[in-house]
Amino acid sequence: MKIVIIGTGLAGYTLVREIRKVDQEIEILMITKDNGSLYSKPMLSNALSKNKDAEQLIQSSAKQMEDKYQIQILTHTKVLHIDSDNNLIHLDNKKISYDSLVLAIGANPFRPKLEGSGADNVLSINNLRDYQTYREGLDHASSVAIIGPGLIGCEFANDLISQDKEIHVIGPDPYAMSNLLTKEAGEHLQNTLSKYKVNWHLSVFPIGVEKLKNQFKVNLDNGESVISDLVVSAVGLRANLNILKDSNILFDKAITCNQYLQTNISNVYALGDCAEVAGHYLPFVAPIIAGAKALSKTLTGTKTKVQYKANSVTVKTDVCPLVVAKPSVPHSTTSIEKDDSGIKVVYYDDKSKVLGYILMGVYTKEKLVLNKTLPDLMLNA
Ligand SMILES: Cc1cc2nc3c(=O)[nH]c(=O)nc-3n(C[C@H](O)[C@H](O)[C@H](O)COP(=O)(O)OP(=O)(O)OC[C@H]3O[C@@H](n4cnc5c(N)ncnc54)[C@H](O)[C@@H]3O)c2cc1C
Repeated sequence: MKIVIIGTGLAGYTLVREIRKVDQEIEILMITKDNGSLYSKPMLSNALSKNKDAEQLIQSSAKQMEDKYQIQILTHTKVLHIDSDNNLIHLDNKKISYDSLVLAIGANPFRPKLEGSGADNVLSINNLRDYQTYREGLDHASSVAIIGPGLIGCEFANDLISQDKEIHVIGPDPYAMSNLLTKEAGEHLQNTLSKYKVNWHLSVFPIGVEKLKNQFKVNLDNGESVISDLVVSAVGLRANLNILKDSNILFDKAITCNQYLQTNISNVYALGDCAEVAGHYLPFVAPIIAGAKALSKTLTGTKTKVQYKANSVTVKTDVCPLVVAKPSVPHSTTSIEKDDSGIKVVYYDDKSKVLGYILMGVYTKEKLVLNKTLPDLMLNA
């Protein structure tokens, strides 16, 4: 039995760790187009304030992971195509066979459509190499424009406060993190960040980025513009599906899986930011860990379904502590409490069961108690 895992991100490596807890013998080959370093991707958006460079974010090298888990890792190796009829993976110069295949190929930053001479200079930060480039750019920058006022954009803004930069956050949303927060909570977050040189340009689309002599000019669709030394895009991720184009593996916006993390091809599975599991696309750490635990059992002989809890995310905005669990179904009622430090919003169904919450400021300490009451996401499993 040979398991091949494409991808050495959190999904790939967590799965290996879980498999080795139950089976030390099974042959595992990992393939990655990067150098296979183990690192915590969530730290990319708070590493500046922790004073960590890209090298310091690495927890283990690919070689250390090979030794620790008795696996083989092909680094700097891009998978080009999957031939699921013949259980073969096509690389540049050879083909590799598998008995079970796990796609843990992650997601790529979505790039907003921007015109202008500076459009190609807009940075996205989704891996260690991107973070290295970002840090080098920051050495010469006193101002940064962030496109995207969502969760990741707000985390980058918060992180830049530690670097004493002038920060601009730009996007069409009416208020910060509008897809996760109520207007009042979003405005509280905005007002708190504003105290630390964060400027907001909201309800506007950036349409282009022009290169000036030493700076960039971000043009907005309301005729205004923002000048900054560096421009970062944080407008979301799209599952990385190029290698599936000519395969028989079904995908929509991500790879379509059932609750066993299994695709339409019975010996091909998907995990992490590339997978939509039983209709849920959750590109976060907790679902990856739950998925890896279940899939490790399935791959070692005990078919096991994954079960997700409603996803609770701690947002890394230290100046305004925030935890959000977005309800997965429409709520019936809401309770709201507030004080100077923040706000607590709890969403309930028609039987007064908690569906989700927003906890900000002092209310974040209620996270653990509320998490116990959150529903499972896959009720009819
Ligand atoms: C800035 C930032 C902050 C975040 N903060 C949080 C947070 O606070 N909390 C939270 O829960 N989540 C957070 N997330 C999300 C979380 O980090 C991701 O859900 C998780 O790291 C995804 O892991 P992955 O293994 O699925 O993908 P990735 O880490 O992207 O790994 C994909 C792997 O696939 C390989 N690969 C892709 N295509 C090929 C190919 N064709 N051939 C070979 N190899 C290939 C890549 O080389 C890589 O090894 C954050 C994400 C970002 C970007």
